Amino acid sequence: MKNKVRLYDKTFKPFITNAEINEAIDRVAACINDDFRGCTDTPVLLCVLNGSIMFTAELMKRLDFNCEIVSMKLSSYVGTRSTGKVREVMGMTGSVDGKRVIIVEDIVDTGNTIEDLTRIVREKGATEVRICTLLLKPDVYKKAIKLDYVAKEIPNDFIVGFGLDYDEIGRNFKDIYVLDPEPDYHVTEHKMNYYILFGPPGAGKGTQASAMVEKYNLCHISTGALLRKEIAAGSELGLKAKSLIDAGQLVPDEVVEGMIENEFNTVKGVSGFLLDGFPRTIAQAEALDKMLDARGEGVTSVVSIMIPDEMIKERIQHRAAIEGRADDASEETINTRIRTYHEKTEPLVDFYRKAGKYVEIDGTGTIEEVRAKIFSTMDQL
Ligand code: 5GP
Ligand code: MG
Repeated sequence: MKNKVRLYDKTFKPFITNAEINEAIDRVAACINDDFRGCTDTPVLLCVLNGSIMFTAELMKRLDFNCEIVSMKLSSYVGTRSTGKVREVMGMTGSVDGKRVIIVEDIVDTGNTIEDLTRIVREKGATEVRICTLLLKPDVYKKAIKLDYVAKEIPNDFIVGFGLDYDEIGRNFKDIYVLDPEPDYHVTEHKMNYYILFGPPGAGKGTQASAMVEKYNLCHISTGALLRKEIAAGSELGLKAKSLIDAGQLVPDEVVEGMIENEFNTVKGVSGFLLDGFPRTIAQAEALDKMLDARGEGVTSVVSIMIPDEMIKERIQHRAAIEGRADDASEETINTRIRTYHEKTEPLVDFYRKAGKYVEIDGTGTIEEVRAKIFSTMDQL
């Protein structure tokens, strides 16, 4: 038996040896011989092509009563997934009218094929229909139809060999192999995405964050909102944060990092996270890298929505006018906010640029235009 076999894009590993298959067929043939011993009619073995070709050949050698062989062909599988629909591809090569029929199948999975076959064979006048299958996937089989002879039960994995194919090849193997998912792990393993969102006030960060969260099934982590949530929940972290805030102190990095890690650990069913308001410092960025590294992951990308300082000013003033927050609109306040943003963000921009994880989005268009740019950039990551 080969160590591994490759069929098109898939790798298969040894599963059932030819010797084991033969033993299983010996057993099932003995049962059939017991049931038909001394029969005076001539039962029909119905070979379901192509899959059952080897099994039928092995089985008929072992039967010691007179029987006929009729073949027919059906197809229900495309690739490695059941299509759910069974088609009759090729008619029967002989008559089953007035005969007892033993349907010989390679494998019963959902049972759709066997259900259709039983119906077809009865319609064609068979007086009795029995089913003999080399293999059965009991975890998947949910039909009420009795399977009279089952040579071997197997788990719900895709197999090839001994008549069974993967897109028509692999049938000639005398042993049975099972799909080996290992070589594809790097492609199929679900890695979490960790995005960081940057953007000065007025760049439309909040609006774009909602769109990103929805499109990419992310959990939006805004540190401010998280703190409020932890405090409201009265968690250990929340209590610690509250006592610090009440005492007029800054919440230390460990507390913020603890909250974020807690989110990473507990939020389920998302494809990733969108960090907003964290990291704010190089120390936090390094802590985040360490945290993700320990999970075998890393920052996917920093998405930075940029608009010119003049536009920040205009937008803040516009917003302040609408919301009637005159204090927000004073030239001096705005200038300070813009300066602070640059001072705080620039080292981080450098940090992520060096890591090759920084992408800048031109935030000057309409909401829809900016959103489209963000999406097309993220799609390429
Ligand atoms: P069912 O109709 O019971 O879901 O599927 C039965 C047919 O599906 C079999 O006759 C066979 O052609 C195909 N099939 C089911 N499981 C496997 C498998 O693991 N490997 C291969 N090659 N075919 C299978
Ligand atoms: Mg088949």
